[in-house]
Amino acid sequence: KEYKANEQRYNSMTYKRTGKSGVLLPAISIGLWHNFGFVDSLQNGREILRAAFDAGITHFDLANNYGPPYGSAEDNFGTIFKNDFKQYRDELFIATKAGFDMWPGPYGNLGSRKYLIASLDQSLKRMGLDYVDIFYHHRPDPDTPLEETMGALADIVRQGKALYVGISNYQPEETQKAASILKQLNVPFILHQARYSMFDRWVENGLLDTLEDNGVGCIAFSPLAQGMLTDKYLNGIPEGSRAAKSLSYLNSETVESNIKKVQALNKIAEQRGQKLSQMAIAWILRKPQVASVLLGASSANQLKENLKALDNLQFSEEELQTIESIVGV
Ligand code: NDP
Repeated sequence: KEYKANEQRYNSMTYKRTGKSGVLLPAISIGLWHNFGFVDSLQNGREILRAAFDAGITHFDLANNYGPPYGSAEDNFGTIFKNDFKQYRDELFIATKAGFDMWPGPYGNLGSRKYLIASLDQSLKRMGLDYVDIFYHHRPDPDTPLEETMGALADIVRQGKALYVGISNYQPEETQKAASILKQLNVPFILHQARYSMFDRWVENGLLDTLEDNGVGCIAFSPLAQGMLTDKYLNGIPEGSRAAKSLSYLNSETVESNIKKVQALNKIAEQRGQKLSQMAIAWILRKPQVASVLLGASSANQLKENLKALDNLQFSEEELQTIESIVGV
């Protein structure tokens, strides 16, 4: 059926400025790491993206190797984009990345100019786009001079293949160096994509300050710790969940070792009249440096439930302290 976006889509979403840039991002964005590969249902993926855009989520996050197999999330996104979203291209902020393993041999991984430029060309073909809104270097490469990697990002912008650039998984010191080089090159560096959740607070230890100093925003990935910060694992590991799948990055031991904390956090969420997932999202948005919380979803209904996080973003000092006593600083 032909897709017509919800006309009310901009009425309920909150938009936040990324650093000191001109770009506003939805407080909640959607990522295509899982559930969009050739192994998954294309129709389900389409429903997730339609539900997202209908709710004002203008930002879709991809990477060259999302799938499985590698490339297939971009391929599937290309199919969905062509049918549903082409008409809305200028209302969308689309991201892709390169930096992890993508193709065999010495040029399909890490941070060389050779890899980044070829990879983005491939990504654009798969997605059927002329340009992406932001292109990220996906992880630092200790063996390639940062000047080379940042130089590649600069040229990608000059070629018109990306409007903005970002980095991901860089430590504070590497981030500062990257920011200085990109500033010299006059490249719009607007986002750092970092893992951030109640179970992983490393960004609070220097990164958020570095980003603020440089006028760069943070977008938080795996905000639900891949599903652990929801009520789904409270009574064991359900079939079909990420922790039950063999091809995923969440194993059952990790879930089991965290379950006591999850139960305690769930109680606080209940007292707030929220789902745990909603509280976990609101908790990240308390940080002004965070421009957006980058969620994954295996169904449109999950996403809709999580969007209700925006109905209660306030925390009392006491709630914050109780959460801290459970998850640590
Ligand atoms: P989340 O922490 O949001 O985990 C999403 C998963 O949690 C869903 O797929 C679902 O898993 C489960 N879930 C979500 N909502 C609910 C709910 N209401 N009730 C029960 N279960 C729920 O994020 P991701 O780990 O998926 O990461 C999000 C995005 O961040 C990725 O798509 C990607 O774009 C980006 N990312 C970037 C990285 C980087 O290095 N830059 C690394 C990792 C991610 P289930 O299948 O069990 O239902």
